[in-house]
Amino acid sequence: MIEEKEALAKILGHVRALPAREVPLAEALDAFCARDLFAGLSLPLFDNSSMDGYALVAGSAEVGAHLQLVGEQPAGLDRKLALRPGEAIRILTGAPMPAGADAVIMQEETSVEGDAVVLNAKVEGGENVRCRGADVTEGQKIVAAGDRLRPPILALLAAQGCSSVQVGGWARAAVISTGDELASPGTTLQPGQIYDSNSVLLQAMLRTCGADVVSVTHCADHAEEIEAALRAGIACDLMIITGGVSVGVRDLVKPALTAVGATLDLWRVAVKPGKPFLFGRAGNCAIFGLPGNPVSAFVTFLLFVRPALLRLMGANDGALALTRVQAQLTEEIDNPSERPHYIRGILKDGSFSPVGRQESHALYGLSRSNALLLAEPGTKIPAGASVTALTWD
Ligand code: AMP
Ligand code: MG
Repeated sequence: MIEEKEALAKILGHVRALPAREVPLAEALDAFCARDLFAGLSLPLFDNSSMDGYALVAGSAEVGAHLQLVGEQPAGLDRKLALRPGEAIRILTGAPMPAGADAVIMQEETSVEGDAVVLNAKVEGGENVRCRGADVTEGQKIVAAGDRLRPPILALLAAQGCSSVQVGGWARAAVISTGDELASPGTTLQPGQIYDSNSVLLQAMLRTCGADVVSVTHCADHAEEIEAALRAGIACDLMIITGGVSVGVRDLVKPALTAVGATLDLWRVAVKPGKPFLFGRAGNCAIFGLPGNPVSAFVTFLLFVRPALLRLMGANDGALALTRVQAQLTEEIDNPSERPHYIRGILKDGSFSPVGRQESHALYGLSRSNALLLAEPGTKIPAGASVTALTWD
């Protein structure tokens, strides 16, 4: 049995980012940028007005001054206008500043008398002017390789004139559930059967992380059936097989992996839930064996599959870990076991409250939870303690 940190380091040591691809910005949401990107344009690109109003020379613009209106500058077409002290040019939001002007007075602070603009307020130099390069300077790094392309980053790239971007590869994933007792949701249960919930859980988790789930297969606890599913899954970048990784006589996944020529890099990790977790490889496929109990499958997905998947898709190291949030524990937590225990709970308004039964089959509590709290082996954490919760949403 190995420690969680060591297991993750070992897994990440075997996972390489997939080749990058160029995609239209509209398809790049939540992908990871494949390389550092630098601004080709300063933003704003030219000095422009942030208001509808009048461009003027602030030094000649006392309250009550009458400025002569000498032109109009709309947005979208630079009329190359110029003005002198004592003059004003009507200007619209986003329009280029006329030469000689250094400020804009808001329309609401003026009145018009014939061809004069009367100033009803004071204007400072630079007021209501957005200067070239104040937001982004040409040549500045604007996105780092491995950054997740969130909507505002896509907007920034669009503002740079990019219509496409190079992103990490889209990982193709296969999900295999194993177990004689499992029936597909929507079918009639026979006595002793339960519904397969892990297939849906793992598909959804993979999609949440941005993977392309190309196949979902169920196998009975039958060696040849499992081997055939493994052989088919090896064409993917990542394969998750759930159930059958423990020590029971019907736990056939390990021998099946050996039979199809996969290497088994690790088996059994010191975490609760999730001890029987395994990791192996075949060709370029990273193979994860998750315990069948749904909560164990969920927790080991977050701890091991998620970071590996993000790495495959080009995430930088900083993006692999779950988000840590400081919170106050609402009730005592006791972990008498020898393994670190990931407690499921609700993180809300700065507090963490354990939710539901903390057992590896108990799906209801998991379904209510939005965070995990690590309780070290042989420890009690008192109510009111400041703790660090991990969130995945
Ligand atoms: P196993 O890891 O195969 O020993 O299974 C451990 C427990 O998880 C057993 O109670 C199984 O019935 C249950 N289980 C296994 N696979 C699934 C699945 N796909 N969906 C829901 N429960 C499962
Ligand atoms: Mg089983």
